[in-house]
Amino acid sequence: MSTKKHTITLIPGDGIGPEVISATRRIIDAAGASIEWELCEAGAEVFKKGLSSGVPTETIDSIKRNKVALKGPLETPIGYGEKSANVTLRKLFETYGNIRPVRQFVGVPSQYASRNIDLVIVRENVEDLYAGIEYMQTPGVAQCLKVITRKGCEKIIRLAFEFARSEGRKRVTCATKANIMKFTEGFMKKTFEDIAPEYPDIASDHVIIDNCAHQLVRRPEQFDVIVTTNMNGDIISDLGSALIGGLGFAPGANIGNEVSIFEAVHGSAPKYAGKNIINPTAVLMSGVMMLRHIGAFDIADKVEHAVCVTFEEGKHPLRDMVGNEGSVSTTAFTDAVIANLGRTSTTWNPKPFKPINLPQVSGRPDFVQAKEERLFGVDIFVESGLSAKEFGDSLSALAEVTVLKLKMVSNRGVMVYPSVGVTPDIVDHNRCRFILKDENYALKDEDIFNLLNQIASKHKWMHVEKLKIIDGVPGFTKAQGED
Ligand code: NAP
Repeated sequence: MSTKKHTITLIPGDGIGPEVISATRRIIDAAGASIEWELCEAGAEVFKKGLSSGVPTETIDSIKRNKVALKGPLETPIGYGEKSANVTLRKLFETYGNIRPVRQFVGVPSQYASRNIDLVIVRENVEDLYAGIEYMQTPGVAQCLKVITRKGCEKIIRLAFEFARSEGRKRVTCATKANIMKFTEGFMKKTFEDIAPEYPDIASDHVIIDNCAHQLVRRPEQFDVIVTTNMNGDIISDLGSALIGGLGFAPGANIGNEVSIFEAVHGSAPKYAGKNIINPTAVLMSGVMMLRHIGAFDIADKVEHAVCVTFEEGKHPLRDMVGNEGSVSTTAFTDAVIANLGRTSTTWNPKPFKPINLPQVSGRPDFVQAKEERLFGVDIFVESGLSAKEFGDSLSALAEVTVLKLKMVSNRGVMVYPSVGVTPDIVDHNRCRFILKDENYALKDEDIFNLLNQIASKHKWMHVEKLKIIDGVPGFTKAQGED
């Protein structure tokens, strides 16, 4: 039995949060875990008190001190605060890895019962479109930056392999949209291919994310661990929860180098709050993940056996199992699990659980350093409602007095100048590619300023992107139709 006393930050959260957290705490305490809970606030009530982050300093300090937190879902009430308290916590503590098991409990009715679904989605948790960098570039054109870094990819991919090892899992599949987004999603795929050989005991493969979604519905039992970028992971983990009976069965862990925060995938489901009908399994199993994280493997197994025995007895939490025989209230389900502590499941074999060997990836900002970088030209994004021909001719003329020449203009990714004979439905947002007239000339910032001044005399530019050749490889994509 583990005897070391752990202090853990406990955040009940909003809506159904207090009910699922209370059920989890009762079960973990009854199992004999040596835990002191430090009760902290975050979420709706904190926003309403006027704190725009939704997370008070005392809560942040508690998590900093304890390094481990178990939390219920948090709401951002409409009209208060700009950012979600969940995202604040995730970013503040750089919990870059979101581990989301999708596992079918024997005895829980679902369309996929008896299919042995037992997979884990490892979702990158801080980068991608979720970096929250968005702009209105013209009154009618919005842009969101998809930020993917080699460092972020290395961290999440190593975490996925280390997690697989910690549970004796045999295969890691990387799911990306690298076929379309060659630099961003492609970074994840390339990094995966570089790192997988360091884990020869674990099989590895790649699947395109849309096919992954299709395969998850058709034959989910084929997957073991899936590692993916933030948005892909967000979507397929909700899909995964639907396979196993609903969000009430989907636990999660947010893993960082210093701090880890355990929480269910689901939100605060406010319409069910206080009704004693929701499923506490997702938060409870997040608590089981937390127990393993702090090394309390024996207590974790004890709780997991009791949960499995309760399902084997045909008792299910009410909300996810409406109309099914054996549906019981949240508190009755909690009592049943407590009564089953110490019993051994006939359907669940504990895995060879070990602590996750958290990957140590260098923290230096210039994580990747090039041997050679060369400027090839510049893309200038310009707002214009002119026809492609008029606009392109105007830019070409303006560039005449500079060291650069207009190569092409693309509109929503398709080259419109020089014309390739098709006429897409254009908008007032143009990527204008300028390249050196003399390719042996070393392009300087003042040359770009000179070009910008020329363009600004007739048009509205909104954004500049340098075109780099990094170690001999172009660091920019071509437009459709560009040679
Ligand atoms: P939600 O709270 O997850 O609820 C969506 C649906 O999922 C519910 O209507 C219910 O479906 C089912 N469900 C969720 N938890 C369940 C449980 N424990 N047992 C049984 N069924 C459960 O999603 P939402 O309504 O989109 O979001 C509500 C609030 O939560 C929002 O303010 C959102 O921002 C926040 N949120 C917080 C987190 C977080 O803290 N990590 C995550 C997601 C959302 P049925 O009605 O079909 O039974």
